[in-house]
Amino acid sequence: MSPDQELSGCLFIVATPIGNLGDLSQRAALSIENSDIIACEDTRVTAKLLQHLNLRIPMVSYREENERKKSQEIALDIESGKKVALLSDAGYPCINDPGFRLVRECHARKLKIIPIPGPNAALTALAASGLPTHQFAFIGFLPKKRGQVQKTIESWKDFDGSVVLYESKYKIEKTLNAISEILGSDRFICLARELTKSYESILSGPVNQVIEEQSQSSGKGEFTIVIGPSGYSFE
Ligand code: SAM
Repeated sequence: MSPDQELSGCLFIVATPIGNLGDLSQRAALSIENSDIIACEDTRVTAKLLQHLNLRIPMVSYREENERKKSQEIALDIESGKKVALLSDAGYPCINDPGFRLVRECHARKLKIIPIPGPNAALTALAASGLPTHQFAFIGFLPKKRGQVQKTIESWKDFDGSVVLYESKYKIEKTLNAISEILGSDRFICLARELTKSYESILSGPVNQVIEEQSQSSGKGEFTIVIGPSGYSFE
């Protein structure tokens, strides 16, 4: 019996596509199918995935706002023998998405945890960036306040590897300009947009060149930025 067909209570941490449904692995589909409950962020988003898989499984909403309370409840379900699949709207749960508290609760109660690896925007962007991968830091989203944004970018100035961050379409222009101002217009970066989707674009080069190329696109979509170490270039 594979671990995905676990008979007693367990938590599956299931990675789902970041755009392309073809990226849902067989193991991911099997673990969802074998679950009694799906804990997910937005039940409407996950309902579409379940429809694609032709499955009907009860869903519970597990979001940032109710994570603390729900973690206890879901852990109790697992303790009572239920198999629960934890899903994000897209990508890997827990990575800049809810999940960490539930996983911690399962560890504290010595419950079985089965990770099902798969799509993740940060690692996909890093792998495609052409920037160094031997050492990297993932910093999630930049802080909301402008002063904090500058401080954060500044603090990674001399890091000897690549820095991976998420950004929204509303702030992408501002963030690229801030990187150029603080780290220099020749700093190498990668701007990965709409990864795995029809309008995927992966722009790598000095930040001023990427800004120029990006200004010719619609500016819509989901973005991941990779910043290379100081002095790095493709030569
Ligand atoms: N847990 C997810 C993962 O494993 O990638 C990340 C969730 S985080 C809330 C969502 C952010 O990831 C988006 O705002 C965007 O910055 C990045 N992202 C998600 N999908 C992407 C894609 N297809 N292309 C580029 N970036 C993406």
